[in-house]
Amino acid sequence: MNDKVETIKAGVLASSGEEGEGTIEIIRWSSAKRLSAAAKVSGLMLVLAAVSVFLPGLHFVLVPLFLIGAVAGGTYRFMKGETVSDRELKCPVCSKAIELRAENPEWPLSVQCQSCGVNVTIAKDHG
Ligand SMILES: [Zn+2]
Repeated sequence: MNDKVETIKAGVLASSGEEGEGTIEIIRWSSAKRLSAAAKVSGLMLVLAAVSVFLPGLHFVLVPLFLIGAVAGGTYRFMKGETVSDRELKCPVCSKAIELRAENPEWPLSVQCQSCGVNVTIAKDHG
């Protein structure tokens, strides 16, 4: 299964007040890709849990902690999985294209214009 690409409208707001809009691309990772990302997180936690078994005293706390971490971290990683990039995004201040590429970003996105240095907030447009 391939990654799904979704094109959505986005609102762009500069910290100085100028507003604009653009188009961004959201690539939703295929389940295979998300699974391998999740397996990496869980695998690391399991290794830490295995190592913690040999720590006297601490292993009562650390082993269950890392085991929970393996499940929770892996699940969390599996649920997320999107890459956001610019499709047609212009700085509302200088009108130059804004390059954007972020994995699993927090919305709204905060980026800096590479041309004029203004801070812009990019939000998914629901209207
Ligand atoms: Zn700019």
